[in-house]
Amino acid sequence: MILCYHGVSLRDEHIWRPGLYISAERFVRRLEMLRSFRANVLPLTEAVSRLRAGTLPERSVAITFDDGFFDFQAQALPALRRFGYPSTVYLTTHYCQHRAPIFNLITSYMFSRSGRPTIDLHDFGGGTEPASIAVDTLMSWCRKQNLDTPAKDDVARALASQLGFDYDALLGSRILQILSPDEVANVARAGVAIELHTHRHRTPRDRDLFLREIRDNKARIREYTGREPIHFCYPSGDYAAEFFPWLKECGIESATTCVRGLAKIDSNPLLLPRLLDQEDIEDLVFESWLAGFGL
Ligand SMILES: [Zn+2]
Repeated sequence: MILCYHGVSLRDEHIWRPGLYISAERFVRRLEMLRSFRANVLPLTEAVSRLRAGTLPERSVAITFDDGFFDFQAQALPALRRFGYPSTVYLTTHYCQHRAPIFNLITSYMFSRSGRPTIDLHDFGGGTEPASIAVDTLMSWCRKQNLDTPAKDDVARALASQLGFDYDALLGSRILQILSPDEVANVARAGVAIELHTHRHRTPRDRDLFLREIRDNKARIREYTGREPIHFCYPSGDYAAEFFPWLKECGIESATTCVRGLAKIDSNPLLLPRLLDQEDIEDLVFESWLAGFGL
């Protein structure tokens, strides 16, 4: 079983997005369940090669985190170390250089946590929008304006002030921010495998653009960690058969999806399924997955 996590809450992110975030308490409970189940938690590289060789021990588990949020270092890693469990972070690298939260996520977080049914987007290409669709309106306006990451962060700051959030406090908490290059290096030194997730969190259908995503992502991971990443995770779970030869060209040995399932000996190594663990998966359901019959 390859477990997939995104973030472990620093504040109340799991209330905003229970599909993306898990509370620190529930995450620790999961690790306790793995221990009581006597799961063999393996590093991803070992798990993938032993899966192919048919030599996996019983109850094998690999733990992966998508994106590389700061909360991995603050919340997940200390817990994983207490249990002695190895883990892998699929790092998207564009935001590593920016001390700003991921724009579509922080605006969604603020819109949702403001408790307001509608958001005033008159200054940002919209009208009075229902909170549920305001992020889409805002994102398409930003695309039309061709705003870069610092300009979008200014928009987030303006919206924070409109909605009554202290944006500097949000920045200081590192909520929804990706690890900085130094933090990536520290996490890698602590034994975490840093692997590929594209530079800009996208999978273009054009071969050259796709290869550029991998190349940019790989160069930064190599620079931050001193090692060569060989595993890949499709951003947003978006995959297509045309990617396979491109991934092989880049020397990638495995790729994971967001398709729910257990990896098997005959699974395509470039389409390994996972269990997306999240706040709204009950302990009993998680247990049934551990026992090998959850679906
Ligand atoms: Zn991702």
